[in-house]
Amino acid sequence: MIAIASLVAAALLALSGWRFWACRREVRMLRESIEALDEGFALFDKDDRMLICNQAYRRLYRSSSTWKIGDTFEQILRAATDIGEIPAAVGREEDWIRERLLSRDTPGEPWLQALHDGRWVRVHERRTASGGLAALRSDVSELIAKERALKASQAQLQAIIGRAGVAILTVDSHGLIRSANPATERMLGYGENELVDQEVAMLVDVPLRAVVKSLLQMVMEREERELLDQQREFPVLHKSGRELTVQLALAEVRTHGDRLFVAVLTDITERKRFELELQHANEQLLRLSTTDALTELANRRLLMQRLEDEWRRALRSKEPMSLLLMDVDHFKLYNDHYGHPAGDECLRQVARLLLASAARPSDLAARYGGEEFVLLLPQTDREGALAVAQRVMQSVREADIRHENSPIADHVTLSMGLISVQADSGSSPAQWLAQADLALYQAKAQGRNRIETAV
Ligand code: GH3
Ligand code: MG
Ligand code: MG
Repeated sequence: MIAIASLVAAALLALSGWRFWACRREVRMLRESIEALDEGFALFDKDDRMLICNQAYRRLYRSSSTWKIGDTFEQILRAATDIGEIPAAVGREEDWIRERLLSRDTPGEPWLQALHDGRWVRVHERRTASGGLAALRSDVSELIAKERALKASQAQLQAIIGRAGVAILTVDSHGLIRSANPATERMLGYGENELVDQEVAMLVDVPLRAVVKSLLQMVMEREERELLDQQREFPVLHKSGRELTVQLALAEVRTHGDRLFVAVLTDITERKRFELELQHANEQLLRLSTTDALTELANRRLLMQRLEDEWRRALRSKEPMSLLLMDVDHFKLYNDHYGHPAGDECLRQVARLLLASAARPSDLAARYGGEEFVLLLPQTDREGALAVAQRVMQSVREADIRHENSPIADHVTLSMGLISVQADSGSSPAQWLAQADLALYQAKAQGRNRIETAV
C-alpha cells in the first residue's frame, strides 16, 4: 500500500514537473511572439503594473529608456511628460495625466497621438478579462503625412475649380451631372443644384442631344483616347435659351471601377463672333480688291491672276483656251452725247450682257480698262470661242442701246479680238493678250462692230 502510495506520489511529482516545464515553454513562446510584432504591444496587470512591453513599443517613446517592467501606467505617463514628449500635455501635464488615466479605465475607439518629434502614433487600448490593460501602438506618421498631402492637394484643386473662369462639370458613366463649379452658373445660368443628377445632354438644343449621348457612349465603349483628347467646339444653351459656342475638353477619371468624366467648357462665343466678322470682312476686302467698282465684274488684277493660273493649267492639260478682248465702239461720242453718267450705265449694261453670255462656271468676264472688256474662256477651242463671241454680239445688238451719234449704227456696238491657243511654254499670257489686242485693232480698222481672230 505504502509502495503504491509512494509510486503515485512519485508519478504526481513527475507530472507536475512536466507541467511546469511545459508552461514555461509556452510563456517563452508567447514573449517571443510579442517581441516579433511590428506593432508596439504592452500589457499591464489589474494593479496597473507593466508586465510586458515589446521593443516596437519602446522604440516609439524616447522616455522608454527610463521605464522598467513593474512600473505603473501613471509612472510611464509621467516619464513621458517629464521630457515633454507629448505635445498635447505640455503646459497642462497634471490635467493630461488625469484624463489619460480616466481614458485608460474605459478605453474606447483607437485615437491618434502626436509626439514631439512630429511622428504620429495610433493608440488602441483594451481591458483584459482579468482587469488588466492591453495597449497597442503603431507608427502611422507616413499615413498621416500622405493623408495631409492628399487633403492639401484636394483643397488646392477645389480652390482652382472654384475660382476657374471656365465651367467644369463632372459627368458619370450614365451621362448624369455629378458636380458643377461656380463658373458654370456664370456661363450657363444654371446653379449647381439645378444641374446635379440631370442629364448633361440638357445643356444642348434638342436635336443635338442624341449626338451628345452617342459621343458619351462612344467614349465609354471604345476606349479611344483620341475621342477624349480632341477638343471640340460645341453649341450649348444658356438657361435663358441663348445659344453659346463653347470649346469642350474631356478628361476621364477612374475611381474604384467607376468612370467619371470631367468636362471643361470655355466660352468662345465672342471669339467665334469676332472670327466670323473678321472672315466676312476679309471676304469683302478680297471681293473689293478683285472686283471692278462700276460694273462689278472681275477687275484687271483678278483677270491677270486667273489668266496666269489657266495658262499653267492649260500647259499641263494640253487643252485649248480662248480669250475675247472687246471694246465699245465710238464710246467717246456716246459720252459726249448722253453724258458721263449715262456712259457709266451703258458700261454696266454691257457688263451684264457679257456675264450672261459667259455660260460656264470657269468662264471669267472682266473689265480690262475704260470701255474694254475681256471674256476668258478656259478649255474652249476657237470654234467654241467664236460661238460665244457671236452670242455676245447678238445680245448687244438685241439690247439695242441707243447710240445716235455712232457713225456705224444707231445702237451701241462692240469690236472684238479673238484668240484661241494651245498654251505652250515658249509663249506667255502677256504675248497672248498682245495678239488679242492686235486682232481687236484690226476689227476697229476694218470698220468696227465685228470679230477678228488672231492668227
Ligand atoms: P473706238 O471705237 O476707237 O474705241 O472709239 P472710242 O471713242 O470708244 O475710243 P476712245 O479711246 O477714243 O474713247 C474711249 C472713251 O471711253 C473715252 C472715255 O472717256 C470713255 N470712258 C472710259 N472709261 C469710262 C467710264 O468708266 N465711264 C464712262 N462714262 N466713260 C468712260
Ligand atoms: Mg478703248
Ligand atoms: Mg472704244
